[in-house]
Amino acid sequence: MVITRYKKRLLVKIKSGELYQCVTKNNIDLSVAGDRVIFQITQSNQGIVTAILERHNQLYRTHKLIATNIDQLWLVVAMEPHYQFELIDRYLIMAENAKLPINIVVNKVELTNNIKKVKYDFSMYKNIGYSINYLSVKKQINIDKFKLKLNNKTHIFLGQSGVGKSSLINKLIPELNLRVNEISTKSKLGKHTTTNTTLYQIPSGGDLIDSPGIRKFQLDEFSNQEILNGFKEFNPFTNACKFRNCAHIFEPKCAIKLAVKLGDIHKKRYQSYITLVSS
Ligand code: GDP
Ligand code: ZN
Repeated sequence: MVITRYKKRLLVKIKSGELYQCVTKNNIDLSVAGDRVIFQITQSNQGIVTAILERHNQLYRTHKLIATNIDQLWLVVAMEPHYQFELIDRYLIMAENAKLPINIVVNKVELTNNIKKVKYDFSMYKNIGYSINYLSVKKQINIDKFKLKLNNKTHIFLGQSGVGKSSLINKLIPELNLRVNEISTKSKLGKHTTTNTTLYQIPSGGDLIDSPGIRKFQLDEFSNQEILNGFKEFNPFTNACKFRNCAHIFEPKCAIKLAVKLGDIHKKRYQSYITLVSS
């Protein structure tokens, strides 16, 4: 398993936990954190990568591959900065198109005195199959329960700045000691800070792929087809539209619009779809 890459040098971990510094055979693409590779040992703890195994999924940031073989992507949102449905929907579009299983974390729940309302807000996502996890990193709410969900899998945390991703990662992997809520500049980087994407072992179980770039992950633009793919609950209805190329906006006899009317598709999700395809 590839742990990290620095330019052309890879750090590769084998099942026993032993680490190898590898280079890559010339005709092979460079691999990234999460890749499973085959390598030949050249000298003690050094090797040459000869093949990359098939990737289950891939995460790109501005067309650059940054991680692969992610089992769970956790979209972190919070009470402060307050969650926004359109932003959530945009992350869901990215994840659905990249075939990344996505769950939602709502952090800083101790800041609300109306958790019922928050749960009501997220029921629209829960009802279409996304798991919602209410946490407070600060007040230690549901953290142990959350740790159990990370076992035996490779994870990634995404979400807008300030929602508490670094704080959560520090809870899971204290020795990483990520700087929280500070604007990082190159000269201020502490000696433990790595800027390249790295796969870390979580002491309580599971792995985490992280880097400052992943924590600042920005979404690319989407095509209309990608937007539609991201609204997975629309899928069962699209074949029933009168027009095969129905965009589900102005067309008559649109099965999506009917489903919205009947309450089978949430109105807010449909509005969000319209906003996204028209922007
Ligand atoms: P990131 O930008 O997503 O990595 O967010 P940070 O981890 O840097 O956190 C941003 C701010 O939110 C910091 O001041 C944290 O101390 C604070 N924070 C993190 N978790 C919680 C929480 O559960 N409750 C509250 N009230 N603040 C939190
Ligand atoms: Zn339609």
